Amino acid sequence: MTERKHLGQMMLANCPVCGGNVAMSWINDGETEAERKEMVGDWYLRGLAISTVERYEGDSMPPPCTERESHRKQGGS
Ligand SMILES: [Zn+2]
Repeated sequence: MTERKHLGQMMLANCPVCGGNVAMSWINDGETEAERKEMVGDWYLRGLAISTVERYEGDSMPPPCTERESHRKQGGS
């Protein structure tokens, strides 16, 4: 039995149009709440779907947004 190494927690921001990944960031232990809010707040402003995932060694990366340029303009005024 092999135990996969736990790498940590990641925050993912996914495209609201296609569900593909747009941005991701490791959650650092020493990170202040203000620092995280600054980063995640921007994701909220862009209308992205945010989730937190546990990452293990060997995990595949989430599929990226296929039309990043056009999808990110959705809803912009
Ligand atoms: Zn997309």
